[in-house]
Amino acid sequence: MAQWFVAKAAHPDALVFFRMGDFFEMFFSDAEAASEALDIALTYRGEHRGQPIAMCGVPAHAVDSYLARLIRRGFRVAICDQMETPEEAKRRKAPTIRREVVRVVTPGTVTEEALLDASRPAWLLALAPDGARIGAAWLDVSTGAFQTEALPLAALPALLARLDPAEVVAPEALAGDPALAPVLGLLAVAAPSSDPGARLADAYGVATLEGFGVFSGPEIAAATMAVDYVRATQAGVLPRLSPPAPQGGRGLLQMDAATRRSLEILKGERGGAKDCLLGAVDRTVTAAGARELAARLSAPLADAEAIAARHDAVGFLIDAAALRGAMRAALKGAPDMARALARLSLDRFAPRDLAAIRDGLARAGAIAAALADPAGMPPLPSLLREAASALEWQGPQPELARALAETLPARLEDGGLVAPGYDGELDALRRLRDDARGAIAALQMELAQAWGVASLKIKHHQQFGYLAELPLAAGETLLRKPPAAPHAPIHRQTMANAMRFTCTALAELDRKLSEAGDRARQRERRIAQHLRKLCLDAAGPVAASAQALAECDVHAGAAEIAAAGAWCRPELGARAEFAVTAARHPVVEAALARARGPAFVPNDCDLSAGRRLCLLTGPNMAGKSTYLRQNALLVILAQAGLFIPAEHAVLGIVDRLFSRVGASDDLAGGRSTFMVEMAETAAILNQATDRSLVVLDEVGRGTATWDGLAIAWAVLEALHDRIRCRAIFATHFHELTALAGKLPELAPATMQVREWRGSVVFQHSVAPGAAEKSWGLHVARLAGVPRGVVTRAEAVLKALEERARGLDPLSDELPLFARPAPVRQPDAAPPPVLEALAAIDPDALSPREAQEALYRLKTLLQREGPLGPAA
Ligand code: ADP
Repeated sequence: MAQWFVAKAAHPDALVFFRMGDFFEMFFSDAEAASEALDIALTYRGEHRGQPIAMCGVPAHAVDSYLARLIRRGFRVAICDQMETPEEAKRRKAPTIRREVVRVVTPGTVTEEALLDASRPAWLLALAPDGARIGAAWLDVSTGAFQTEALPLAALPALLARLDPAEVVAPEALAGDPALAPVLGLLAVAAPSSDPGARLADAYGVATLEGFGVFSGPEIAAATMAVDYVRATQAGVLPRLSPPAPQGGRGLLQMDAATRRSLEILKGERGGAKDCLLGAVDRTVTAAGARELAARLSAPLADAEAIAARHDAVGFLIDAAALRGAMRAALKGAPDMARALARLSLDRFAPRDLAAIRDGLARAGAIAAALADPAGMPPLPSLLREAASALEWQGPQPELARALAETLPARLEDGGLVAPGYDGELDALRRLRDDARGAIAALQMELAQAWGVASLKIKHHQQFGYLAELPLAAGETLLRKPPAAPHAPIHRQTMANAMRFTCTALAELDRKLSEAGDRARQRERRIAQHLRKLCLDAAGPVAASAQALAECDVHAGAAEIAAAGAWCRPELGARAEFAVTAARHPVVEAALARARGPAFVPNDCDLSAGRRLCLLTGPNMAGKSTYLRQNALLVILAQAGLFIPAEHAVLGIVDRLFSRVGASDDLAGGRSTFMVEMAETAAILNQATDRSLVVLDEVGRGTATWDGLAIAWAVLEALHDRIRCRAIFATHFHELTALAGKLPELAPATMQVREWRGSVVFQHSVAPGAAEKSWGLHVARLAGVPRGVVTRAEAVLKALEERARGLDPLSDELPLFARPAPVRQPDAAPPPVLEALAAIDPDALSPREAQEALYRLKTLLQREGPLGPAA
């Protein structure tokens, strides 16, 4: 227990997995938490300060699957292992086996396949605040990727949303910041490192970081925190990491957290893998390719040249169908070299990780060869040319191919990693072992004869080595009349119905065999380490090759989807244009196709100069949200470097994309739906530029009609006059279409519906103009609202419409449309204000009289009200 307390004191925020023989045990509150999380039995043993000690345990051989469950539940686990055998401890005359924490398993520092999501990066994000700015550094231990950025504190939520980190490291001071609320469960508190620049340079064995790029102070502080944290979790060992690359957010399409949520880029609201953009457009065939595609979709570019380079690659592979097919065939089943390399660098590898490098490089070579063959093809575009040169390099591949056995053991300890013929010494040891095995088979026959027991079997036992096993009766006979040397039996064990013996010859063979086995295993371990070093020495080019494979996978996948359907290469320019023809929403289109329902109706969208603001009206269920999201998604796809589901598209590069579609609330954060809506609207009005694209759904829906309409009105004006961005603004306030006459860039559009036998048919197509009706009651009926309620609503609606008739709510004055006019008796006298007003003849008034008349009217209005004292 003393050892346990030491381990726990060093890792108070982790569950301590305490190795005891074949089990990892947990104690006290750790045991209580783990037994609940893992659904395993909690027991009690011994006492501590008069209280029974709670404990539970998991078998060591199955530890990975338990770790996976705990990590997924947000736990950290400190592995406290036995550092010596009981014999070694006895030899040292120590009362207990030495135990030490060899590793802390945390969500952001794992490398095991079982603990990782193959198609997602596992970012560990470190944050170093510095006044109003913050340094951020994120690295993926499982691939070695490492990037940094310095940003304003206010931009942190957007970065968190973009990276979706597995774990966040931040100093205590930042932990309480509301920006970190969404990742609080992933937070590890760590103090900033002292002398960060030097420590970071030291980690890379360089004198200065200059060679890696230009870093700001906070970036270096954050990068060092990340590296220190990783080192601490790996008990001092640092995995292979690429040099940190400063990003500065340059050249990226900016999207905030709300926009990402609303567009469902990497995951759908309902959590379905298919219900998101990634799910709908992913045609990659490798895990690394899927990760690369996810990275591109969550951080699209804003640099026309870089985007065009990606489009060139995709376009080339659309035309080169045979090459694309060959590439995809070679990619399919290609191993994940980046992650294998990480496990090799941490010396936590299995034979299949060496095989991954061997096979990955071989596939890379095959693809390079396919790309090099120019038969009838135009010259390669730049990205494919660069990929080809990274893929060509074979480095340790031939040696790995020679060294590794055809079928590999699951674990190094199982033996059998190395192919025969690779290492003379190992072959000799194996021959010795095999000879001894042959000798044992011969001895079995010899003993069966000498001892007169035909059923004698020589078997291997964990504890005793090789023993001859006889039926009980035969054993007893043998003991009564033992043959003489060299076959004299030595009794070892009696069981219920068998006896086990050895003899000098068998013991001798057994010793030889186990010696040869030990030496072979040792030799094999050394060879494995040699092969590991071979791979690590080549880590840079191997990682480059892995990255090139991932990129080829993304380009070929994008070409595949574009070749299969009507997808086009968007024409990208610097001018703030936006004109797409016959475009579709990739996710809804795919979902409709899966459901074998009606086909998706393509729609155009033109937000070019002169009609930058589209004011979209239409009933619920007509397809407004789909249309809004569709146009935002087209920008993401285009700027991520993919083709887009449209016939034709001209897009001016978008610097920031804002999407507010679908109700969002923040119940946990204590903000109402309307509060969230307004906060999100504020973010747009404060950050959007004339290069941005904004898609907004029903601003103002969350409050009373009047405020809502007023806010929507003012927001629309601000977008039109001040921000001058491209925008689609969907609204239920049909009154807003009255603004079309006042705002020259406003183009009203509506979702078309048809009335058929008294009910509504949604056509899902967008046409110029404004909706005439809301069709709310039809939708209510469709949704199964009881007939009685709908009928009553119809009656109420009719009455309301009757009263509002004749009032043009937004001609110039503010509207009165929805508020029922107060009931007046038809014979009642007109209100005094109106009477006074009617009595005035403006043409007959001098300026002074006009002013006096105004004062009079105002006083009357205040005294009597607009409708007279009766109202
Ligand atoms: P709204 O926002 O107007 O209430 P939605 O965009 O949510 O409507 O669309 C309602 C449903 O109509 C969607 O679930 C989808 O199945 C279907 N839909 C929307 N747009 C289209 C389209 N262009 N073609 C075919 N079906 C569509």
